[in-house]
Amino acid sequence: MTYVVTENCIKCKYMDCVEVCPVDCFYVGENFLVIHPDECIDCGVCEPECPAEAIVPDSDDRAAEWAELNRTYAGSWPNITRKGDTPADADEWKDKPDKKALFSPEPGKP
Ligand code: SF4
Ligand code: SF4
Repeated sequence: MTYVVTENCIKCKYMDCVEVCPVDCFYVGENFLVIHPDECIDCGVCEPECPAEAIVPDSDDRAAEWAELNRTYAGSWPNITRKGDTPADADEWKDKPDKKALFSPEPGKP
């Protein structure tokens, strides 16, 4: 099992998750973060830290459509180990539904 970042993370990027991960397995895109499924040790520490409730175990129904995306981009985006600057409009986007179309495949800056 592993943990998966899902839709709620899009355009949020609070990055509280990266601060607590003991194995630094988060990777950063332009407006999303992913977890590397082969590096995640399934400790679960990041799940309650995410203010957007975007992180779920892969056994959760919400993980199904995001698991492959996490794996794909964890292989090409840069690793992130420190919380960066939260975008000014993050709160505005936090609880918005149906953000999937806004997902950017571009790499972000760690
Ligand atoms: S804390 Fe949650 S919303 Fe923020 S970057 Fe991490 S997974 Fe995404
Ligand atoms: S479950 Fe643990 S190891 Fe996996 S991403 Fe979260 S904090 Fe990192």
